[in-house]
Amino acid sequence: MMDFQQRFKTSPEVIASAPGRVNLLGEHTDYNDGFVLPTAIPQRTTVAIGFSADDRHHFYSVELNESVAVVPADSPPQGFASYVYGCIRVVETAGHPVPPLAVFVTSSVPIGSGLSSSAALEVAVLRGLRSLLQLDLDDVKLAQLGQQAEMQYAGVSCGILDQMACSLADSEHMLFLDTRTLDRQLLPFPTGAEMVVIDSGVARSLATSGYNQRRAECEAAAHQLGVKALRDVTDPQQVASLPEPIRRRARHVITENNRVLKVLAGISAPEFGALMNASHASLRDDYEVSVPALERLVEILQAMPDVFGARLTGAGFGGACVALVAAGQAQAIATNALNLYNRAGYNGRILVG
Ligand code: ADP
Ligand code: MG
Repeated sequence: MMDFQQRFKTSPEVIASAPGRVNLLGEHTDYNDGFVLPTAIPQRTTVAIGFSADDRHHFYSVELNESVAVVPADSPPQGFASYVYGCIRVVETAGHPVPPLAVFVTSSVPIGSGLSSSAALEVAVLRGLRSLLQLDLDDVKLAQLGQQAEMQYAGVSCGILDQMACSLADSEHMLFLDTRTLDRQLLPFPTGAEMVVIDSGVARSLATSGYNQRRAECEAAAHQLGVKALRDVTDPQQVASLPEPIRRRARHVITENNRVLKVLAGISAPEFGALMNASHASLRDDYEVSVPALERLVEILQAMPDVFGARLTGAGFGGACVALVAAGQAQAIATNALNLYNRAGYNGRILVG
């Protein structure tokens, strides 16, 4: 990598990368011990890693045009360096000393758009460390270290979905993941289909408070139903005794888990699209995490020919929508849908398509 050489005046020892991800089905199920179904997006984060010329770590990000030097004995850095340093520290804590490093980061994953640029960065760095230091780490352990780095050093209380997806998924498959047991299966992407992801351009302003409230509602529902997590309830009839709104919240989680499980049997693109549409309706009506912009965008996508299905993806309250469309049509559909959407006064953009 030429840029690494220019910046650090030496050659990298290893180059590693990891993709961003989008969740196709299974929303707000991960913190209920449930099932998720992400896939990798084409965009990737790449890191080049070499040895530092002094006793500090040096990190550089092309996208942020930011350079950070970290003295290992000092307090941990903030910002983007916290993700990179966090990966180094969790590897050290796992018993593998890490020498001072030069780390060069570059990425095509949109940052902060819900496509998991953070986990792509962690998995890329950890893959780089794995080959540089010849660590005996499998892809699941690597994902778990990435999650630890994000929780302990970036201060984000995240589930395991993002890191597992970035570590184990590819863009020809969907990753079925049981977030309780970490049992997983790579399923073929529906035949004759590809995906489109469009950012609504609406910031997820209520996302944190809304997210925390939904988590608390799910915990309350599980408690009242006498189960460890909502994952343990499979029949939506069982929520009948719960008070509103937790009855609807629980119903979303149960029906959403059942939708993901249906995919395991093997499924056509139109059937998959119908599950996505049902997932969106459930997120809107039962989970109440949609907003007018997402409604508009999903409505536009669902009404277009060659669209099998569309839904909001991620926590909601803004963010992106994902659609399953006929193979070869992603670009045209994304462009047309975005035009219609932006003509309605929004400022969306195509993320995949
Ligand atoms: P998302 O994961 O949805 O993209 P997050 O807020 O979880 O959004 O993570 C974004 C953060 O991850 C950025 O603010 C930055 O600190 C770090 N990050 C991701 N990609 C890069 C990159 N290419 N260069 C530097 N930092 C990055
Ligand atoms: Mg993230």
